[in-house]
Amino acid sequence: MGSPRAALAELLAGNRRFVSGQPIHGHDVTAAAAAASGDQQPYAVLLGCIDSRVPLEAIFDQTFGSICVIRTGGHVLDRAVLGSIEYVVGQLGVPLVVVLGHERCGAVASTVDTLCGGRSPGGSLAHLVEQIAPAVTEVGVDDPRVHPLAIRRHVLRTVRALRADALLAAPVAAGRLAVVGALYDLATGEVALLET
Ligand SMILES: [Zn+2]
Repeated sequence: MGSPRAALAELLAGNRRFVSGQPIHGHDVTAAAAAASGDQQPYAVLLGCIDSRVPLEAIFDQTFGSICVIRTGGHVLDRAVLGSIEYVVGQLGVPLVVVLGHERCGAVASTVDTLCGGRSPGGSLAHLVEQIAPAVTEVGVDDPRVHPLAIRRHVLRTVRALRADALLAAPVAAGRLAVVGALYDLATGEVALLET
């Protein structure tokens, strides 16, 4: 593991590459695109995991102003997340909420480990485990495919919780808002919608 200073230097170097219009990772955005975004008119809000392999703007080939992105460990909901989504839907008129899970999610793995008798992680990380635990329990820790199945179940539970949210339920019922679940394939980069 490198030092915080080295990590910061690398991050800033990445920002300089971006500003100069010479990205090396192929994420096709430029400072000119940022300047041209004007008032934001996003058409979707994405809730995904913090996993560094799943950069949402990149994997959906988005540009500045096109989507709102919220990321938490295991895409766990809390009041700040819900308030953010309510803002985007209610104030910006966004018609689509996507919950994106991904394979080999560390937050789900930690939850499976804890429910299989491992030590609780403690701290606020325990909150993530508590929020993901119902999905793991529904699948059953003895299921040999508990990890991939719990990831799907957790996405679906998150979708249902959003559809039932006090300020989101009405636009969902009126057909003005869709809340969908999807999975990201780390190997192929493909996103597949889940039946909800
Ligand atoms: Zn994850």
